[in-house]
Amino acid sequence: MAKTSSNTPQAIRGTQDIFGPDAEAFAFVTETFERVRKLYRFRRAEMPVFEKTEVFARSIGETTDIVSKEMYSFEDRGGDSLTLRPEFTAGIARAYLTNGWQQHAPLKLATHGPLFRYERPQKGRYRQFHQIDAEIVGAGEPQADVELLAMADQLLRELGIAGVTLQLNTLGDADSRDAWRAALVQYFDRYRSDLSEDSQDRLDRNPLRILDSKDPRDQTIAANAPRIDDFLSIAASEFFDDVTDGLRAAGVNYKRSASLVRGLDYYRHTAFEFVPDAGSAAAAALGSQSTVLGGGRYDGLMESLGGPATPAVGWAAGIERLAMLVGERAPDLLEAMVLVENDAGMAAAIELLSRLRNSGVSADIMATGSPKKRYDKAVKQNPQHILRVDERGYHGMSGEGDDARILAAIGRPPA
Ligand code: ATP
Ligand code: MG
Repeated sequence: MAKTSSNTPQAIRGTQDIFGPDAEAFAFVTETFERVRKLYRFRRAEMPVFEKTEVFARSIGETTDIVSKEMYSFEDRGGDSLTLRPEFTAGIARAYLTNGWQQHAPLKLATHGPLFRYERPQKGRYRQFHQIDAEIVGAGEPQADVELLAMADQLLRELGIAGVTLQLNTLGDADSRDAWRAALVQYFDRYRSDLSEDSQDRLDRNPLRILDSKDPRDQTIAANAPRIDDFLSIAASEFFDDVTDGLRAAGVNYKRSASLVRGLDYYRHTAFEFVPDAGSAAAAALGSQSTVLGGGRYDGLMESLGGPATPAVGWAAGIERLAMLVGERAPDLLEAMVLVENDAGMAAAIELLSRLRNSGVSADIMATGSPKKRYDKAVKQNPQHILRVDERGYHGMSGEGDDARILAAIGRPPA
């Protein structure tokens, strides 16, 4: 480790300097996401990292963990209250309304980048973390949910992540959800004093959340709580049937999870999470921070931002948690190492190197250290080919496999 003195500033708690194998795994996740979102014809968007605080407060809901205790909010020099984004959806909804993106509806959007939440840092949980995110905005039909879930499912497969199952639920339409919520409040109120302190608090603020409490006391009580199925309107239950029929047709496996709820106020109908199976390698790798990808339908969100009723569905996945599941990536192939055997060969080597890279051959140069050691250092990088250069210029290549591409790139025989 390099020397630091006591006055060297430390990184902020909960942030990460991602490097080495972790950075390779991270890049593999974002590159695979880019590839898959193109297969599904999602358009790329880049979103601001901060927004007016009200964008999140109004859309995510004051009673949620995110808004009530996790946001990084601050006043800027102009006196406006701003917040570092804790999630993508609210900002995308704001952009949809302020940019007139209605003209593109149904709009399939994909983005990724950093998010900020003031949480207790632990394995798989950071204060600056990263997500990939996919949304279909302005689409009210169940096929949109199917499309979005099929994309998530294919992404996880292409990442080589096994042992993770789609847990699926419906929260019904606004009427179903309100009726269910009232029944839950009535039910849990009878057990109020047996609930964990957190859930007693949730009972007043966000009763659905008691259902996904991790506390065993709450779980025992929640096991017999009223189920959404008894409150679904006919339209809501038909919608859910269409989603599950579509998933079967698309070959996406899922498990119905009647107690699955999502933390945010704006969800309607479909809610889902991809969660590691008990006892799987994925569960072992992630520990208790287990959801890797989550989302649902948020038909009420645009109205909370003053826009017209706009149906939409989306998901987000933590890149760090996905990266922990993809395992170590083989380092990228180095096709050609230009070995400068003595300093008089430098100009020829640089010229060769440009030719290689301009022709799309990955190449590096070894030109430092004693000439004797350079060869060994070059070999250590495990190149497919070593191109030797000295004062006479390029004079030969060693290596295995097909070198036609390299010969074409450098366009000359050895001196
Ligand atoms: P959790 O229950 O783990 O707090 P959440 O419901 O807050 O998750 P979402 O808001 O749905 O999570 O975010 C989607 C995904 O983003 C999560 O499934 C997870 O992979 C990732 N994620 C959320 N918060 C963090 C964090 N603080 N650090 C790293 N990844 C996170
Ligand atoms: Mg959380």
